Amino acid sequence: MKIAFLGLGHMGLPMAVNLVKAGHSVLGFDVFPAALEAATRQGVPVADSAEAAAAEAEVVLTMFPSGKHLLEAYRGGLLTAAPAGSLFLDCSTINVDEAREAAGLAVAAGHRAADAPVSGGVVGAEAGSLTFMVGASAEEFAVLQPILDVMGKRAVHCGSNGAGQAAKICNNMLLGISMIGAAEAFVLGEKLGLEHQALYDVISTASGQCWSVTTNCPVPGPVPASPANRDYQPGFAGALMSKDLGLALNAVQSTGVAAELGPLAAAIYARFAAGEGAGRDFSGIITDIRDHSN
Ligand code: NAD
Repeated sequence: MKIAFLGLGHMGLPMAVNLVKAGHSVLGFDVFPAALEAATRQGVPVADSAEAAAAEAEVVLTMFPSGKHLLEAYRGGLLTAAPAGSLFLDCSTINVDEAREAAGLAVAAGHRAADAPVSGGVVGAEAGSLTFMVGASAEEFAVLQPILDVMGKRAVHCGSNGAGQAAKICNNMLLGISMIGAAEAFVLGEKLGLEHQALYDVISTASGQCWSVTTNCPVPGPVPASPANRDYQPGFAGALMSKDLGLALNAVQSTGVAAELGPLAAAIYARFAAGEGAGRDFSGIITDIRDHSN
C-alpha cells in the first residue's frame, strides 16, 4: 500500500519503520527537521512537505500531538494534495468532536476517513504490538486491517467516525480513576500497618482486582515489572494521562454526563503533571497522595 506517514515522533517513527519493514511504500514527513533525519537514519523515506508525501498516497496516516495540529493540516492543503478517494487515517489521540470534524472535512473533499487511536505506548509501537481503537465504516476497517496488523496486535472496530477516540478516552478515564483508587488503597493500607504484599495478595484475588493493581501496581514488590520498581520511569507518563483525562473531561462536559470521578481524576492528574509527574509513570500519583497525607 502507498502510505503517507505524517508525524514521525516518539510513536509515529517506530510505526512507520514497521510499515517499511513489512514492504509497504511509505513516504514520511514531519515539521521537525530532527524527526526527518531520524526517519532517514531508520530507513523511512521522507518527502519535502506533507503535501508531497500525500500526492500519490492511498492512505494518509497522521500521528500528531493534538486535534489542533490535525485540523490545521486538513485545512491547510493536505486534503487537496491527496488523490481523490484516499483514506485519511488519524492515529493521534484527540477530542471526539475534533475527530468527527476532521472526518467530515476529509469526506467533503472526496476522501474516506477513519480514526484509530492507540494504546501500548512507544514500546508497543516499536514491537508492533499496539492496540487500535477504530472509528470507521466496516468497509474502511477492512481496507485498513492489513496495515493495522503490521503496527499492532489487535484492532477493535468500535463504530463509525469518532468511535475510536470515544473508546480510548472512556478506557483511559476509567484507568485514571482506578489508579487513583489503587494508590489511595495502598497508602491507607500503609497507615493501617498492612504490608504491601499482604494487601496485594488480597486485592489481586478479590473484588478490588484491576489492571492498576495486578499489572501496573503503584508500590514496588508485588509486580516486579511495574514502574514502581524503577522509580516510576514510564510506562505511561503523567503528562499523557493528564492529556487524555482532559479529552475525557471535554467529552463529559459536551455530552452533559453526570460524571464526578472523571473530572476529579482530570484535576488530580493535571496537578501531578504540572510538576515532576509529567515525566513519571502515572502510577507515581501514589507519592503525591503520601506527600499530602498527615
Ligand atoms: P510526538 O510529539 O513525539 O510526535 C508528534 C510529531 O508530530 C512531532 O514530531 C511533530 O513535529 C509532528 N507534527 C506536528 N504537526 C505536524 C504536521 N502538520 N505535519 C507533520 N508533522 C507534524 O508525540 P507522540 O508521543 O509520538 O504521540 C503522538 C500521538 O499519539 C499523540 O496524540 C499522543 O497522545 C498519542 N499517544 C502517545 C503515546 C505515547 O506513549 N507517546 C501513547 C498512546 C498515544
